[in-house]
Amino acid sequence: MPDSNYDLVIIGAGSGGLTAAGFAVQLGARVALVEKSRIGGDCTWTGCVPSKALLKAAKVAHEVRTACHYGIMSGPPVADMAKVRDYVLAAIQQVYQFESPEELERKGIDVLQGSARFISPRSIEVADRIVHSKKFLITTGARAVLPPIAGLSEAPFVTYEKIFENDRLPDSLVVIGGGPIGSELAQAYKRLGSQVTIVADRLLPKEDQDVRELIGRVFEGEGIRLLKGRAKSVRKDGDGIVVSTDGEEVRGDLLLVASGRKPTVEGLDLEAAGVTYSEKGIPVDEQLRTNVKNIYAAGDVVGGQQFTHFAGWQAFQAVRNALLPASSSGFTDLVPRVTFTDPEVAQVGPTEKQARSKFGNDVKVCYTKMSQVDRAVCENDREGFIRLMAKSDGTILGATIVAARAGETLSELIVAIKQNLKVSQLAGAIHAYPTYSTGIQQLAADMTIEKLLSGTSGKIVRGLSKIIR
Ligand SMILES: Cc1cc2nc3c(=O)[nH]c(=O)nc-3n(C[C@H](O)[C@H](O)[C@H](O)COP(=O)(O)OP(=O)(O)OC[C@H]3O[C@@H](n4cnc5c(N)ncnc54)[C@H](O)[C@@H]3O)c2cc1C
Repeated sequence: MPDSNYDLVIIGAGSGGLTAAGFAVQLGARVALVEKSRIGGDCTWTGCVPSKALLKAAKVAHEVRTACHYGIMSGPPVADMAKVRDYVLAAIQQVYQFESPEELERKGIDVLQGSARFISPRSIEVADRIVHSKKFLITTGARAVLPPIAGLSEAPFVTYEKIFENDRLPDSLVVIGGGPIGSELAQAYKRLGSQVTIVADRLLPKEDQDVRELIGRVFEGEGIRLLKGRAKSVRKDGDGIVVSTDGEEVRGDLLLVASGRKPTVEGLDLEAAGVTYSEKGIPVDEQLRTNVKNIYAAGDVVGGQQFTHFAGWQAFQAVRNALLPASSSGFTDLVPRVTFTDPEVAQVGPTEKQARSKFGNDVKVCYTKMSQVDRAVCENDREGFIRLMAKSDGTILGATIVAARAGETLSELIVAIKQNLKVSQLAGAIHAYPTYSTGIQQLAADMTIEKLLSGTSGKIVRGLSKIIR
């Protein structure tokens, strides 16, 4: 039986909890990681990994369907959904093998299987066992929100928690919600062969209007229907489901409800520890401490941005603050996000609209279409654009990339912004040709040259050039 007195007990073994446990044990702390369900959490089992694996299968179907464009002849693709599901499960297993209890125990982390509930600020109960710890970190994540739609509780539907188990391709799918999860899964199912309708006010509501319009155009081109408006009621209709908005209705064989996620605070008995919470999450201070000073929280349960990379980063900061002297902030403005539709939508820093409202005329915006980026042309990934935003002194503020592989291309800009680099420094770093990133270097070069040749500096430079000539 493992020790029952720890330096740190982490509740929830998802993206945040796993990062936290790995770091804490490296610091030499006695660490326990408690998980009530499957180690890996949403990301491994019902989130990032299965959704990206499904999108890959869907992309292959799309490429087969459009192969004649490249002179390759083939018949229409047929998705064997049971095999697609097996591919998705294999990807999950591949990721999970590095997160299994045996692997974690090997690193020195005690894994406690069961639902944790506080009995005091320094002790919890897990599977009939009392566990004491000097400090706790709560990383219990989030779960699907069900919107108040009449008839929903009586109708058959799935959320992201179940859809990846699907081994039958529905003839038609209705998706309630046009956010990243709804949009990714809508495109995946359409490409696999279902008729898909999204019921939402708009697609990707957090993105700038031109991004939303572009993705809307691509979706329309692929045959995904957007039924604008809010789902007001749902009813069973034979083997299918009918979703009604104020004026219209749509029928589908399968209904996916993708209308957001809310922090998991239930079942923890936070009252017993005196931890304040609401359905919006557990409030924390700058150092990620709850109102009870030895109890920290990080990731989706805090109620901020819901990303694996952010949960991991926050959990790392929480451990750093819990187990090392001094402290670091658990919050930052620099949290990139990517929606893995095709084209992908990647954002770091403010969007153009946010940058203009914050910095006014001090913002310079440069833009290129992917049809002007040679690699994208060769790959037939011409849909999309790169937009780079900088202050007038050249400091890079943010970027929006709508393109194939946008998530990969974004990374250099994340580093550049984090390091306060200027566009001239980006322009001066030779990028390999032909890559998608040359689009960024080209924009940085355009901005640098424009700055150099404007105003007084421009007059001087042109004058000098005249003398040399
Ligand atoms: C379909 C989908 C696609 C996504 N795609 C992406 C993506 O591409 N990129 C990205 O960055 N993010 C993505 N996300 C979001 C990402 O999965 C989450 O932001 C991330 O998993 C949050 O990590 P976490 O540690 O806060 O919570 P989780 O990873 O969810 O872990 C929480 C864990 O706590 C456990 N738990 C809860 N209560 C208790 C208790 N009382 N006792 C013990 N254990 C408990 C849960 O069982 C769970 O395992 C996606 C999410 C979904 C749903």
